[in-house]
Formats: sequence, structure tokens, C-alpha cells
Amino acid sequence: MKTVTILGATGSVGTSTLDLIEREPDRFSVRALTANCDVERLAAAARRTRAELAVVADESCLPALREALRGTDTDAAGGAQAVCDAARSGADLTVGAIVGCAGLRPVMAAVERGGTVVLANKEPLVSAGELVVNAARRFGATLLPADSEHNAIFQCFDPAQVKHVRRIILTASGGPFRDWSLERMRDVTPQQAVAHPNWTMGAKISVDSATMMNKGLELIEAARLFPVDPDRIEIIVHRQSLVHSLVEYADGSVLAQLGPADMRTPIAYCLAWPERMATPMAPLDLVAVGRLDFEAPDDQRFPALALARRALTAGGARPAILNAANEVAVAAFLAGKIGFLEIAAIVADTLDRYDPPAPETLDDVLAIDDEARTIAGERVEDCVT
Ligand code: NDP
Repeated sequence: MKTVTILGATGSVGTSTLDLIEREPDRFSVRALTANCDVERLAAAARRTRAELAVVADESCLPALREALRGTDTDAAGGAQAVCDAARSGADLTVGAIVGCAGLRPVMAAVERGGTVVLANKEPLVSAGELVVNAARRFGATLLPADSEHNAIFQCFDPAQVKHVRRIILTASGGPFRDWSLERMRDVTPQQAVAHPNWTMGAKISVDSATMMNKGLELIEAARLFPVDPDRIEIIVHRQSLVHSLVEYADGSVLAQLGPADMRTPIAYCLAWPERMATPMAPLDLVAVGRLDFEAPDDQRFPALALARRALTAGGARPAILNAANEVAVAAFLAGKIGFLEIAAIVADTLDRYDPPAPETLDDVLAIDDEARTIAGERVEDCVT
């Protein structure tokens, strides 16, 4: 029996994780579940799984959570510190499924406890990747990537053959606007941007997929997780989202992981690791699929890709600034304040305007994140007025 804590249990990844866990009650038990403020969904999941603890990051939601958990044995807690405490709660597996840099401190808390951390929450690895990976090494934590591309690489990457790895190839669906002209993208609505053709995901990552910033964030994430030079990590567009990523070796062998476009497959891999577990996914019918298409990404229509690569190459504070500005711009787009094409423009502008020294500590990263958000927020206001 493995004990599991899910940070961000009410979101898309959190819900997929719960679905798997609830199918195998003899194999998994729930230690803690956290959310920001979706009390209804959190309390329902805590009741179903008989979780020991349920936590809302937004403390003002705690009275409602207590009320919703009345008559159960589940303890309730609230506030950012309580989320970190849940991350340290000693579960065998801690799943990081909070969206954005809000997950950084909780992920770090889980890593510093030295257990196994299943990471979907990519923004902490972008903003503070070196700190997180170094802490994992220092505290003996195991990081298991749940992001489908990184999970695919993890399955294909032989750490004993690092010097023979020629390339990592990250696949991208290209998002809903992969065939749209820039002119047409100008008037994209939030509703169109969150309607991903292949995946069902939370709003923020769906917009990131539409701008292809998601692939830029994943490029940085891959460079943090796998010991390969960044210029040997390539991105190709693969519309069917069935080949989740590939690793090429010096002898010309290319290993790929294929599977349905459903997060339950990579999450199941992490939950069961180093074993395997069944999922409800139908077998992959390659004959019905018929063909797999690959094409080069278009940096002109999707400038976020080049922004992310430049941030990765420059290093230091650049990835944290890129991520913070993107979070602000995506939130502003979803709120109807700015246009779709302004997302990448605001990220570029924030990177131009802010150049602090490289962060050395988590507090440094969070201070840079904070300042980049302020600068990006000013730019959003310029767009509004
Ligand atoms: P969702 O928006 O669906 O869910 C986000 C979760 O985080 C919710 O539980 C939410 O709680 C919680 N949350 C939001 N803000 C805070 C906060 N300030 N403090 C604490 N908790 C908070 O996101 P996704 O599940 O789509 O994505 C989660 C992460 O996984 C992201 O980093 C994403 O990039 C990554 N990822 C997602 C994939 C997917 O298929 N969805 C695929 C690969 C990676 P509440 O419900 O109360 O708001």
C-alpha cells in the first residue's frame, strides 16, 4: 500500500490522479489533498478517498471546508503554509499538480522531505529548476516527471548511456491554431484558446499550448531533468499527440514512447513506478490511426518558442522572468484584458525591461518572480488603457 498526497487535487491532473487511485483502493491510500478554494470538489474527493487531511491554500475558504467535511475523519487546514505542511506529510508519493509558480514552495517542501515527488507542475522547474534538482540530490528525493513528454523521455532515456545520447526530441501538438495565420490569431478568444484539439487540460496550460509557450516551458523543464546540452533538445510538431517524445542515441537508434493523449497513462507510470499498473485506456490501434505526421514548428507565428530557448540559453533569472510574465499575461488574456498575440509580446517586453542577477536561493527566485509580475502587470495595464 502506497500513501499519496496530491497537491492541486481539484484540477485536471489532480482529478486524473484521483481517478487512478480510486480504481485501486488496495494499492493506494490518500494522506492529504490540497486545492486553492474549490471546497466542493476537494471535500467530495476527501470523502470518497477517506483522506486524512484536506487543505485549501486560500485561508478564507477554510470555514466552508470545515463545514463540508463535517461528520468525516478528515482534518481540515488552510493557508499557504498548510499546503507546504501537507507536502511534507510523509506520504510515499507526493503529486505536484498545482498550476503555476504557486506550486514552487510546496514542491520544494516535498523534495526536502526526501520522498518521491511526481511532478506535473512544470512552472517550478522552469523558475527554479536547478534549485529543485539540486535539492532532490541533496535530500535523496526521487523526481518522477508526469508531464507526458518528460515521462516519455524518462521511459526512453538510459542514464548509463548519457554520453551516447545524441538528441532529445520533444513533440508538440501545435495547439488549436497550428494552421492559423498571425492575422487570424489576433482575434482569438479565450474560449477558442482553451479548446485544445487533443488534450483536456486546465485553462492556463491550454492557453500555453495555444501560444506554444507550453513547449518552451517544457524545453526548459527537459534541460533541468535530463543531463543533455540544451542545443541537443529539439521540438517537432506532431499533430496526433500519440508519440509523446523521443530519445536518439549515437548508433542511430531512436526510442519513442507512444500512448493515448490522456494524462492517466504518464501519471499511472509514476504512481506505479518502478512497476506498472493497468489504466482504463483502450489499446492503441495503430492501424486505425493509419499515419503519424511530423513537421517543424513555426517560430514566426509562435514566438514563445524562441523566447523560451533564449531564456534557457541565457540562464540565470531569465527562465523565472519568462515564466512569471507568462503567468500574468495568460491570466490577463483569460480575463479578456489583452489579445492573444499580446501574451508573447508582454513576455518579451518583461524580459527586455528586467535583468536582475542570477538567483541563488528560493527566496531570490520568488523575489524575481514577484518583480517580473509587477512589470508584466504594468504592461497589461498599458494594453487595457
Ligand atoms: P488546473 O487549473 O486544472 O488545476 C490547478 C490546481 O491547482 C487546482 O487544484 C487548483 O485549486 C490549484 N491551485 C490553483 N492556484 C493555487 C494556489 N495559489 N495555491 C495552491 N493551489 C492552487 O491545472 P492543471 O491540472 O491543468 O495543471 C496543473 C499543473 O500540471 C500545471 O503546472 C500544468 O502545466 C501541468 N500539466 C498539466 C497537464 C494537464 O493535462 N492538465 C499536462 C502536463 C502538465 P482550485 O481548484 O481550488 O482552484
